Amino acid sequence: MKKKGLLIILSGPSGAGKGTVLNEVRKTYKNLEVSVSVTTRAPRAGEVNDVNYHFKTIEEFKELAHNGAFLESECVYGNYYGTLKDEVFDKIQKGLDVVLEIDVKGAFNVIGKYPDAVSIFVCPTSMEELKGRLAGRGSETAEALELRLRSAMGEIKQATKYGYVVVNDDVKECADDVIAIIKAEKCSTKINKDFINTLTGGSI
Ligand code: 5GP
Repeated sequence: MKKKGLLIILSGPSGAGKGTVLNEVRKTYKNLEVSVSVTTRAPRAGEVNDVNYHFKTIEEFKELAHNGAFLESECVYGNYYGTLKDEVFDKIQKGLDVVLEIDVKGAFNVIGKYPDAVSIFVCPTSMEELKGRLAGRGSETAEALELRLRSAMGEIKQATKYGYVVVNDDVKECADDVIAIIKAEKCSTKINKDFINTLTGGSI
């Protein structure tokens, strides 16, 4: 019997290393698709359209929103970001696990619509380390950097509302924690009810 895939939400403050952890997870855990979000933010050096994000103008973003294309959308750090329904539901039906790398507001929005979503919050080891990583990235203006730092504390305060918290001290260890969470969730009773029903002839 083909089981539905998981919808996994990965959040954490900017600079916590969500993307790096996710890349590490994908090296060993192959059944994972990363949903490519739409954004109105300008691409950073090295970012590729339709790989890192679907980069759109504000007008194009509004058109997509108007047409009901988004599972959720938010304004984060002054730019619009949105998760496309098309990036998610077909893949889950096919049995793939789909991960959304989205902000806290977007995460709660998705959890409200899809309570079975597995939510994971990636924390830095300390605020000093986070500040160092953000400054080291060198991609933001001083103003944008300040905005991301101010937001980080507020986001971390929401971490306990997630199903899981992982700390990105060592990328490999953090990725192993994420894989362990995914594997445990795939064995959870809520995911396996349909399977048990096929074994028992539908009596639960
Ligand atoms: P960045 O500009 O650093 O790539 O992302 C900024 C923030 O936007 C991060 O917290 C990231 O997780 C979040 N984000 C990226 N895509 C989406 C999305 O589709 N929806 C929401 N709500 N947040 C997103």
